[in-house]
Amino acid sequence: MTDKPLPHGNRTRCVHSGIAMDKTTGAVTQPIHLSTIFEHPPEDAPDRPRYTRMGNPNRHALEVAVAELENAAASVAFGSGTAAIAAVFSMLPVGKHVLVPQDMYFGTRSTLKQLFHDRLDIEEVDMTNVDFVRSRVRAETAMLWVETPSNPCLRISDLATLAEVAHEAGAIMTADNTFATPLLQSPFELGADLIMHSATKYIGGHSDVLLGLIVIPQEGELLDRIRQIQIAGGGVPSPHDCWLARRGLMTMPLRMAQHCKNAKAIAGWLIGRPEVERVFYPGLPDHPGHELAARQMRDFGGVVSFLVAAGEAVAKDIARRTHIIANATSLGGVESLMEHRASAEGPESTTERNLLRFSVGIENVEDLIADLEQAFKAAHK
Ligand SMILES: *Cc1c(COP(=O)(O)O)cnc(C)c1O
Repeated sequence: MTDKPLPHGNRTRCVHSGIAMDKTTGAVTQPIHLSTIFEHPPEDAPDRPRYTRMGNPNRHALEVAVAELENAAASVAFGSGTAAIAAVFSMLPVGKHVLVPQDMYFGTRSTLKQLFHDRLDIEEVDMTNVDFVRSRVRAETAMLWVETPSNPCLRISDLATLAEVAHEAGAIMTADNTFATPLLQSPFELGADLIMHSATKYIGGHSDVLLGLIVIPQEGELLDRIRQIQIAGGGVPSPHDCWLARRGLMTMPLRMAQHCKNAKAIAGWLIGRPEVERVFYPGLPDHPGHELAARQMRDFGGVVSFLVAAGEAVAKDIARRTHIIANATSLGGVESLMEHRASAEGPESTTERNLLRFSVGIENVEDLIADLEQAFKAAHK
């Protein structure tokens, strides 16, 4: 299988990229290589792995596949999305200025506050307002961190224009592409310098693996540095986790298509409900980022957030009363999950108190709607 030409279609890539047939057994699916050590390679195969922190066949298969999906030179895997985020920020010289979005994954904000506040000058801005972002960029700015669609409010930021703003200032732009996946959005085509994925979400797709990746478009200094942080820092994912993420990737195109379809139907249903004050989904024509999302994304993703008209207590009650939809955090798994986001984020949360975030799964959408409907009816006012 190593001799196969590079497949071009994304579904073909998701199934085959990076996976070579096992030469001794002929196994068609990749074995999990738990061995931490490999015999020193013969001279004609100098790239063969030697020690799993430095390289492992399962990690390699995953890294190659994700890189190919982003049409990039390489991707570098870490033990979680958060470890991948920390790798990027730890690469920046001390004292540099970084712009990050006001609406972003709460864990990213926590990591920055807890680990980087005394090393970097981190400023939160409204990334959907390009003119404002431009006004905040200065000589010390080293990076724009962009998350679009954002978590939990599904805000859409203009990747192409923000990349220009970053580059005019001599800075780089990194895109957290977790919500979109490589299938729905290609930030490198819009000028991004790095892409981050939490593979814990849609890439893994089954809520059973924690893993993160940084994708780098070309060979060179950035790739060398991130590879160095991976290997010398040692925050690598296990072979088993890499195998699970690589296995998840195989069905990602089919899953994403169903996530998008279901989410669109759910968003449309929510809009018509008297219990709902507002729906955040970029696929809705009245979403402020809809046109931009339609331009820079291939579909609108599987997460829908909404505000419950009767307020926080009823919102929490609705989340507790669903039967199929689990009241749990995270997103991107085949099963539907919904949570009161401000509670999950804790005392420092800036998320609206009556917001529920719904990671729409791949179940029959009529069952999800029936579940929501009974929870709306049963919730105490
Ligand atoms: C979950 C998430 C992360 C962090 O990933 P972990 O694998 O949980 O560490 C980063 N960004 C976004 C948008 C996420 O949803």
